[in-house]
Amino acid sequence: MIYLTKKIEFEAAHRISNYPGTCSEIHGHTYYLEVTVSGKVDWNTDMVLDFKILKSIIQTGVIDHFDHALILKRNSENEKIFSSYPGKIAWMESEPTAEQMLLWIVSSISPLLPDEISLAKLKLHETSGSCASWKDNKR
Ligand SMILES: [Zn+2]
Repeated sequence: MIYLTKKIEFEAAHRISNYPGTCSEIHGHTYYLEVTVSGKVDWNTDMVLDFKILKSIIQTGVIDHFDHALILKRNSENEKIFSSYPGKIAWMESEPTAEQMLLWIVSSISPLLPDEISLAKLKLHETSGSCASWKDNKR
């Protein structure tokens, strides 16, 4: 089994609405995401997956949704505060913590991968010193 990793960055703002501290204020992060997929080498192409295809999948599954967005939990408080906000909002069913964003990314990217390619690991850095990781437990 071969593992391929693509690393990308995106900019986003969020607020953690139930947080008893400054994270309840709107603030931004330069998110740094590492996406690792696994598969076998295709002997016709000598690749597991063209990095360009993986980049395109991440663009569609993550960047188009989160980049330069305000990421918010869809709750009555946020819907009231931001009802007239004209900018890009990425609504989530949970608070936009790194952990929940990771789970969202898993469910967004997985269906976009070719059948023979599996999502193996994700790492989402919220700051240079803080990151959350997800690993497929089936392997
Ligand atoms: Zn934050």
